[in-house]
Parts: sequence; structure tokens; C-alpha cells
Amino acid sequence: MARHASDLELLRFDDEFDGEIRLDEPLSKHTTYRIGGPAKAFVLVNSVAALNAAMAACAADECPWVLVGKGSNLLVSDAGFPGVALSLAGEFRNWNFDEADHRVVVGAGTILSRLVQEVFHRGYSGMEFAVGTPGTVGGALRMNAGTKDDWIGSRVVSVTTFAPGTGLKRYAGSDIEWVYRSTSFPDDEIIVECELQLEPAVSGSIHDRMKALLDKRKASQPLEYPSCGSVFKNPEGHSAGQLIDSVGLKGSLCGGAQISEKHANFIVNKNNASASDVRTLIERAQEKVKEHYGIELQPEVKFLGFEEDLKI
Ligand SMILES: Cc1cc2nc3c(=O)[nH]c(=O)nc-3n(C[C@H](O)[C@H](O)[C@H](O)COP(=O)(O)OP(=O)(O)OC[C@H]3O[C@@H](n4cnc5c(N)ncnc54)[C@H](O)[C@@H]3O)c2cc1C
Repeated sequence: MARHASDLELLRFDDEFDGEIRLDEPLSKHTTYRIGGPAKAFVLVNSVAALNAAMAACAADECPWVLVGKGSNLLVSDAGFPGVALSLAGEFRNWNFDEADHRVVVGAGTILSRLVQEVFHRGYSGMEFAVGTPGTVGGALRMNAGTKDDWIGSRVVSVTTFAPGTGLKRYAGSDIEWVYRSTSFPDDEIIVECELQLEPAVSGSIHDRMKALLDKRKASQPLEYPSCGSVFKNPEGHSAGQLIDSVGLKGSLCGGAQISEKHANFIVNKNNASASDVRTLIERAQEKVKEHYGIELQPEVKFLGFEEDLKI
């Protein structure tokens, strides 16, 4: 007997749907690790109406969903994600500068580095800390991306989110808790837009600061291999990279993955690594550091599609 089409399948053939639905899309195409099995569907939405329609289909199908930005802080399991991976495109990639108040309203699907360049070209300061950080504005907000000196939360005037059922909601920047690589955004809310405060820049100074930051990255990070950036958060008063290095794990291999020889807090995809290769190295680093120092390394990277939690 023929089965009923799911709401998501029906949405695929709805001419009014302002987006694109790709079934069984490998998530390795959407992570900077270039690792990850398929999602049941990868759904690009170009508008709030399309986001609403996609979320309604997920609810009707009782299908789990996740928002994927640029996948630059994601390790997706080899089995993939048995749900819908949503991605913000179209109107979620717009920006609008308010020259009077020195602010920018920017869509969460905007690539962060494009915003950094635009801010620079318009003669503003405030986003230099983000130079060389991959990802989208939404991912940066969710993660409170930054350096040890500054993070995006310090620039936020307001953020708009979307939640299934309740729709759009606006937070003042001060309503959100911004801490090191973490925020208090509810898990069931999608960040769709934010307003950031900038400052008029002193000519020449931003360019020099951005160049110095980029040079530092190139010198210290293994940018020649796919990765997720820093795998672990730095424990209070310590550098995760130095701890991993000091227990002798720099260069340690598992399959195609390696704890970088250049920076031990990077686990790189050196040669067609699987997610399970990377997870093995993550657990190896956690075990050794705990054994030697009694410190539990907390992952900064987010995991998707894994059945088991990390052992530690
Ligand atoms: C080479 C390299 C260097 C890096 N350097 C830095 C650095 O200097 N500083 C730093 O902080 N990070 C760094 N990162 C990590 C990463 O770039 C940041 O965490 C980035 O902000 C993640 O953005 P994304 O769009 O790729 O998010 P994703 O990796 O796609 O998602 C990360 C998390 O955010 C959630 N999310 C994404 N978009 C939204 C949204 N619109 N609404 C709600 N939730 C959302 C996802 O569901 C997931 O939980 C680096 C990564 C790499 C590969």
C-alpha cells in the first residue's frame, strides 16, 4: 500500500515555498571539517515565511531539526543526522547600515567575514576581532565567537530570534548572557537577525590591527587542513593546546585525523578522516589531560548525530 507523503515531501513541490529542500544531503558538504553523514533533508530557507513553513513541516512530521550555519564549529557523526538541517539564505543574508547611530542590522545567515570586510570598507571599527573567524553571524552569536580579548556579544544592541509556535522575538543585548564561547539563547530558538554597535574608525588603524591578527592566525593555526578551529575551551588559567601538548599528544593520529603538530587544540582532517577518528582523538586528549592534571577539557565544538555522550 502506498504511504502518505510527509509534510516535508509536500513542501518540496510547493511553488510558493521560498527555499530549497535537498533530501539525504551529505553534511560533509556543509562543515569546515568536510566530515559528516547525511541529513534526512537539508533545507535552505530564504525568508521568515519559508522558515515558518519548514518548521511547521518538521513539527507535523515529528522530525527533529537543527540550524546549521557554516558548520565551522560542528562535528557531525558518520551516520549523519536523522532530521532536518536548516540553513539561512536569501533575506537572512542582508545588511543595513545606520550611518547616524553607527550601527548595522544584519541577517544571521550572513557570512561573518563578509560583514567584517563591509564594516572595514565603510570606515567603521568594532569587528576586527572576528577577522579570519569562519562561519555565519548567527553561528557567531550562538557561540559568542571571539578572541581572548573581545567577543561578538560585546557589540550586540539587539537580537531577533524565531521559535516554532511563538514566531519572532526580540532580545536586547543585555537580556542575553554572553560568556566565553557560550550564550543563554534557548536551544529551540533560531537567531535570524541582530543589530551591532560600531564606532567610526581612525584611518589606517583597523587595517593594521586586522592584518596583525590574520598574520598571527596563519603563524599559529594549521589552516592548510580542514578543522573546526579550537576543539576545547581553554580551562580557567590554562591553555587547552599547551595541556594537550604537555601530555605528549601533539601529532597523535587516528585514521585520517591528527592532533595538529602546529597547534595541539586543533584536530585536523588530514586524510579523509571520519567523525569517529576525530572523536577518538578528542577522548584521548580528555583522558590524558585528566590523568595528568585532573582537568576535564570541555569541548567547544558542537556534536551532531552522535548517540553516545563523550565518556568524560
Ligand atoms: C579555522 C577556524 C578558526 C576558528 N577560529 C575561531 C575564533 O577565533 N574564535 C571563535 O570563537 N571561533 C572560532 N572558530 C569556530 C567557529 O568559526 C565559530 O564558532 C563560528 O562562530 C561558528 O559559526 P557557524 O555559522 O559555522 O556555526 P555552526 O558551526 O554551523 O554552528 C555552531 C552552533 O551554533 C548553532 N547555530 C548556528 N547558527 C545559528 C542560528 N542562526 N541560530 C541559532 N543557532 C545557530 C548551531 O546549531 C550549532 O549549535 C574557528 C573555526 C575554524 C574552522
